[in-house]
Amino acid sequence: MLMEKERNEIVEFGKKMSSQGLSKGTSGNLSCYDPESGYMAIGPSGLGYFETTPEDVVVMDLEGNVIEGGRKPSSEHNLHATVYKHRPEARAVVHTHSTYCTTFACLRQPLKAVHYVISGAGVDEVPCAEYATFGTPELAASVGAAIGDSKALLLANHGLVACGPNMSKAFSLAVNMEFVAEMQWRCMAVGTPAVLTGEEMTAVRVRMQTYGQAKKPGEARDTVGY
Ligand code: 13P
Ligand code: ZN
Repeated sequence: MLMEKERNEIVEFGKKMSSQGLSKGTSGNLSCYDPESGYMAIGPSGLGYFETTPEDVVVMDLEGNVIEGGRKPSSEHNLHATVYKHRPEARAVVHTHSTYCTTFACLRQPLKAVHYVISGAGVDEVPCAEYATFGTPELAASVGAAIGDSKALLLANHGLVACGPNMSKAFSLAVNMEFVAEMQWRCMAVGTPAVLTGEEMTAVRVRMQTYGQAKKPGEARDTVGY
């Protein structure tokens, strides 16, 4: 079976995404990318996260051709492929309809630096891509047009997309973006949030370089940043 490790991760993190309330029903989807083969593994369309097995995960190339798998791939396979094409360092993409990110996506307003963990996105403001119907090449194009240097992006009237150097980081970024969106929403409910300045965010990024455990020689685990 091609991309067995990645297929297992997609199943494992799909369950996490569902049980942590980041996606309702079969909304959202996850993928992993292998730059050596040029293939991505992506979850099946419309299948419950707790029903999905590694065999249900589909292996595709970035041009939309199915390489292995008997299921119909996620309707957002074009969107995932677009993220990998624009962010060559990305190895995993997580798409959610999480409540607070989707609230700002419906307002078509960016996430702001109301909390320093926005730094995980690599930008001071997470933009909102222009609206297009879900599962279309037009939505993928609007992601390509808006992503810039960001590792996270809101999708107008739809949700969030986040990427990372591995599935664990991409998932954590989606969780942290939901936290920032909730803080922004809560602050706006009672007043005007104070937004961190560019200088304050630069200081956060410097501090993040040494956050967490130092990598031991030979350790593959990437522990830098949230
Ligand atoms: P799939 O079930 O086809 O992955 O679609 C869910 C979704 O979130 C569409 O935007
Ligand atoms: Zn969606």
